[in-house]
Amino acid sequence: MNIKTKFNLGDTVWSGEGCWQKKYKQCPDCLGKKQFDVTTPAGEKFATACPTCSEGWHSTGRVQDYGFSPLINLLTIGQVRVEIREGLVGQAEEYMCHQTGVGSGRCWKVMYLFHTREEALEFAQAECERKAMQKEIEEEKKRKDGKKELRPYKND
Ligand SMILES: [Zn+2]
Repeated sequence: MNIKTKFNLGDTVWSGEGCWQKKYKQCPDCLGKKQFDVTTPAGEKFATACPTCSEGWHSTGRVQDYGFSPLINLLTIGQVRVEIREGLVGQAEEYMCHQTGVGSGRCWKVMYLFHTREEALEFAQAECERKAMQKEIEEEKKRKDGKKELRPYKND
């Protein structure tokens, strides 16, 4: 049997994925200015710190939000895993990398690993869009159904 894999042991690769992450967005009330200009009924003008984006002592001009962000990393292949079995078209390729654990750690499916940074970033961005769209559809469905439903677990 002659097994070919996309990557070899010791190869440097780029991983690309869309991750659900905490992000920041501009404060909707002060529009990032961190303060409001206030005019009292008597006509006195002063500035006050924006209460919406205040964190501890000061206003930051931004508020926390969640969303999918493209995440790419430079990794080194430390283990190549190939599975070939009946009922499987082609072969299942997985890799373990020094930066994310070899032996125990994360198994990267071949679809998440790339030769170049550009390919990884392009994939990561597309995955963010795909996941955001999927989430949107699921939330819309939840709103309509008003109930939870069971779905078969799917990897990826
Ligand atoms: Zn603000």
